[in-house]
Amino acid sequence: MKVNAIIEAIDTWAANAPDREVYRESERVYTYHQLVHRANQLAHYFEENLTTNSPIVVFGELEFDMLVAFLAASKSGRAYIPIETTTPQERIELILSVAQPEMMVTIGDWQGPTVDVKQVDLEQLHAIYQGPSQRWQNVPRSEDDTYYIIFTSGTTGVPKGVQISHSNLLSFVNWTLSDFDLQTGMAYLAQAPYSFDLSVMDLYPALTSGGCLVPLTKAVVNNFKQLFQVLPTLPINVWVSTPSFVNICLMEPNFDQSHLPGMTHFLFCGEELPKKTAHALLTRFPQAKIFNTYGPTEATVAISQVEITEQILADYSRVPIGYIKEDTVVSIMEDGQLLHAGQLGEIVISGPSVSKGYLNNPEKTAAAFVTIDGQPAYRTGDRGQLTEEGLLLYEGRLDFQIKFHGYRMELEEIDHHLCESPWVKEAVVVPKYRENKVEQLIAYVVPADHTFEKEYQLTKAVKASIGQTLMAYMIPQKMVYVPRLPQTANGKIDRKTLIHEVNPS
Ligand code: AMP
Repeated sequence: MKVNAIIEAIDTWAANAPDREVYRESERVYTYHQLVHRANQLAHYFEENLTTNSPIVVFGELEFDMLVAFLAASKSGRAYIPIETTTPQERIELILSVAQPEMMVTIGDWQGPTVDVKQVDLEQLHAIYQGPSQRWQNVPRSEDDTYYIIFTSGTTGVPKGVQISHSNLLSFVNWTLSDFDLQTGMAYLAQAPYSFDLSVMDLYPALTSGGCLVPLTKAVVNNFKQLFQVLPTLPINVWVSTPSFVNICLMEPNFDQSHLPGMTHFLFCGEELPKKTAHALLTRFPQAKIFNTYGPTEATVAISQVEITEQILADYSRVPIGYIKEDTVVSIMEDGQLLHAGQLGEIVISGPSVSKGYLNNPEKTAAAFVTIDGQPAYRTGDRGQLTEEGLLLYEGRLDFQIKFHGYRMELEEIDHHLCESPWVKEAVVVPKYRENKVEQLIAYVVPADHTFEKEYQLTKAVKASIGQTLMAYMIPQKMVYVPRLPQTANGKIDRKTLIHEVNPS
């Protein structure tokens, strides 16, 4: 399977197989015809009502209308920015101030700030779908035009918008369709929120290959009883999630091949795949292929993959992160020098899936994006090495970016917002690890003057103040109050010492 253009591939499925299922909820099924017809109606509306090509914000959870809005934005020659409904107001304001959108499609219930941005809500959206059928021709765009923008944690407290172009996405999609033994018409689990680029791993391989998305919504995922009931009945072939999520699912004993005989693939990305998880899956799903994939949002979801076997688990102390995709080069670097196989250094990725940079943020772009042999390259901040056979091994981070329950965050961003709290004089956040996985975030806080009688009251107040800007998963579980923070020789807060204290050995 090879795709020449994402939108046209989806249009072709709608033209040739209009009744094919594209989105299967438990109560309702949608077809390719419905997707493309609605997207055309909405794209037409954008063309009639918008005066600029600025990106379109799409606000909501896993819903069919989200796909329609993404496709409509692309068809009208505009990029889209997915935002989850649980995003705090101040964070949304920060994103809007960076992105300067002209339009927001609010599929979720918009409780956000009053902003001077045109808005289409769910009711209007349905009126647009049902309006007179519009003749539509996709607006032509160049390969370098931005397809989507995903905002990710930024060290200074302002999220960074990673711009992914049509050619970036095409490079990723063609790799997934060729290197994972995926077939046309498969059913993919859709669980990752659209604001996390892992969702792209099910969304576009499915839509360009005549496949179907089967959503597991947040409401189900957050209710274990319901989740465990649904899991053994999911009509899917391809599982896409973080290892953290599948670990939860493995608590359900009926999550196995005998209940899910159609399951042929597991694709993992976004964080380290623990050996125990991989081993449990090989035992529960002996007929399925299990892939570990690796990559940052800045290089379009993933750039390497390896099929996990018992042999691989026996041969390596940590699960390898894969062989590099054909059109891409990984260089292991230290101080600007290229290292050899077997040497540990920073993983630097160059190739056609590397982003052009962060939206309206030349400073951060210049810091992370470089060129190697004339090719755009991204410095991942990941530490790793290549084996002689070209297998990439992961050894952790060079900076203070972490993954917690699969979510990417910069510890500095949490520090920044903690320090903005009126109850905090100084603060630094430290991850507590268990078997290479972050288990807890601990904030060391020098409190500002306050009149709380009890510590828990202070903690409640601090958490409430940072919760106005930080996503819920970024809020430290534990606050430790100290009179002062340790400092390095040159007077900076010494996070490393605290990390060693929290994680002895
Ligand atoms: P994100 O941009 O959210 O996909 O996060 C990218 C970061 O997640 C990478 O730079 C790595 O630090 C980490 N990561 C992604 N995939 C893996 C993997 N398979 N194993 C270990 N870490 C991973």
